[in-house]
Amino acid sequence: MRGSIRLFLDGPLASGEAPLLDPAQAHYLGVVMRRRAGDEVVVFNGRDGEFLAQITMLSGKGGRLALARLLRPQEAEPGPWLAFALIKRAACEILVQKATELGVERLLPFRAERSVAALPNLERLAAIATEAAEQAERLTRPKIATPVGLADLLAAWPAGRPLFAAIERRTAPSLRSRNIQIGLLVGPEGGFTDRELDLLALSPFVRPVSLGPRILRAETAAIAGLALLTAPPGDATI
Ligand code: SAM
Repeated sequence: MRGSIRLFLDGPLASGEAPLLDPAQAHYLGVVMRRRAGDEVVVFNGRDGEFLAQITMLSGKGGRLALARLLRPQEAEPGPWLAFALIKRAACEILVQKATELGVERLLPFRAERSVAALPNLERLAAIATEAAEQAERLTRPKIATPVGLADLLAAWPAGRPLFAAIERRTAPSLRSRNIQIGLLVGPEGGFTDRELDLLALSPFVRPVSLGPRILRAETAAIAGLALLTAPPGDATI
């Protein structure tokens, strides 16, 4: 359904079900998007696929839908994992939104020695990821892990999944990979400390990479790196 409103719902979806809308979703449909009973929306829940649904009731307290038909069966959506040092709230929210649009499967925030931000509000980040998944026509939302320290992140990292560590001011190879079963690691605004660089050098699955000669803000580095990893192969004739 090109251009349709898409909503993520928590409950089960199956033909014949009449899913409920919470007050925020009903407000969005009725007040922001000016939809009425009888109008169609597209819904998904990350487990049962994507359905066309019809609004049957909207009020200030919530709403109800009737599922019309399955549009897309559920599929796994493998994508890169993004490990990112905690950064200030606004930048962190942009990073989560754009990483979700770019197809990240897991978001792994970590505390770097130079992280200046307080622990993020994970509920708010999940809501931002949900909206981005709705917009990007994903069938899934990325999982957002509880922040840990860099050493714990590396200790729990699956050894078979290469982790590209974006490290500026180094003669590291440029980030280029057609494999999305990988991770991308981005540091804090102050950059990695020498101790963290040593820790990364000791992890056999870590591969230092460069994102070019300019020094990017942390959220820009995450977005640029993901774009390089997830863009389809270019058209050789251009
Ligand atoms: N304060 C550091 C400095 O001036 O050298 C810059 C840190 S940068 C703002 C934040 C993070 O983005 C870095 O830790 C790194 O992960 C990533 N980054 C930024 N530019 C990069 C580049 N050109 N190549 C690789 N990584 C980069």
